[in-house]
Amino acid sequence: MSEELNPFKIAQEQLDKAAKIMNLDPTVHQFLREPMRILEVTIPVKMDDGSVKIFKGFRVQYNDARGPTKGGIRYHPQETLDTVKALSAWMTWKTAVVDLPYGGAKGGVICDPKSMSEAELERLSRGYIRAIGRFIGPEKDIPAPDVYTTPQMMAWMMDEYSKIVGYNAPGVITGKPVEVGGSLGRGDATAKGGLYVLREAAKKIKLDLSKATVAIQGFGNAGQFAHKLVTEMFGSKVVAVSDTKGGIYCKDGLDFKKVLDHKEKTGSVTNLPGTKNITNEELLELDVDVLIPAAIENQITGNNADKIKAKIVLELANGPTTPEADVILYKKGILDIPDFLANAGGVTVSYFEWVQNINGYYWTAEEVYQRLDQKMTKAFWDVIETAEKYKVEPRMGAYIVAVKRVADAVKIRGWV
Ligand code: GLU
Repeated sequence: MSEELNPFKIAQEQLDKAAKIMNLDPTVHQFLREPMRILEVTIPVKMDDGSVKIFKGFRVQYNDARGPTKGGIRYHPQETLDTVKALSAWMTWKTAVVDLPYGGAKGGVICDPKSMSEAELERLSRGYIRAIGRFIGPEKDIPAPDVYTTPQMMAWMMDEYSKIVGYNAPGVITGKPVEVGGSLGRGDATAKGGLYVLREAAKKIKLDLSKATVAIQGFGNAGQFAHKLVTEMFGSKVVAVSDTKGGIYCKDGLDFKKVLDHKEKTGSVTNLPGTKNITNEELLELDVDVLIPAAIENQITGNNADKIKAKIVLELANGPTTPEADVILYKKGILDIPDFLANAGGVTVSYFEWVQNINGYYWTAEEVYQRLDQKMTKAFWDVIETAEKYKVEPRMGAYIVAVKRVADAVKIRGWV
């Protein structure tokens, strides 16, 4: 990975830029540039063929000034400690920007979940929790799903943690299936939260979403639900979607159900009859109104930012845009809604799940969505007003709002 695309370097660079604009106390700045705690673990897992394979995992607790740390766990073959560090920093800003009483954390295991059986994934998930079990807890650090981890894995992890402590502890982890304490509305929360923000962004630039065209990169949890919901909620036309194997385009719009069935049957969205195959790069550069990167880091860079034609970029992925690209998009007048605001819907409903677990009292889906809408709408306007006040791009507006909240907590606690 080149230093320029090292996510942790990028996270630090973004913070440095914000610190300068907001005149942040230099000691607080120095403290907020690094994670408070890093854990690296080695996990032996019995494979189905009888052999034992050794996996490496991480958990980074970036900052807990505002409350217990919170953030997902990724299973990824190219996972690195620096990626997890960056993602834990972004979680810290994410929980702060939507004003949840949490800090930020992230976990990761280097593995290729696509080549592992269900039983192997269960043993890995339980092994990871045995390794980090002492360092997490409902009042300490609360994991959740992320890239290639699922509600089923969260259930195994919660079960393993409960065995370690000797009682049922549903609040240790969020994103669980509803049968074991998950919240209604958590499944599509990231996309839904993003679309509430998109609705406000469209008001801001006077874009009629019922006539808008949309391209979505990534067909995981965030991308899939974004496709389904953007059509249902606003009547927008999704003309392109993609996954790791490539993308498809159809100018008359892609039917969500057809794409999903095809992906479930063939393992990819590509080669769907009636559509044209395109590359992931081509998808980003399409002439659409709304572009939704919903895959992984470093997709919009100095090399292609100038070719982006969308009016709004809604970053459902974490870290899809590099600092160099930020400047280019801003100059082009594109409204780029930064990741840790756009995709905060997931952790917001995670917070609702945790509140329900702790109280043992469960809400209706309507209550969840209504509260999510309130949180996301307020955060969007806080960020936009701040960005306009300082005459900076929305990412910097979001940083200023979030960093101020964390910095205030650090100071009031008397740490710095
Ligand atoms: N992994 C999601 C994120 O990046 C959700 C985190 C959570 O629910 O704690 O925001």
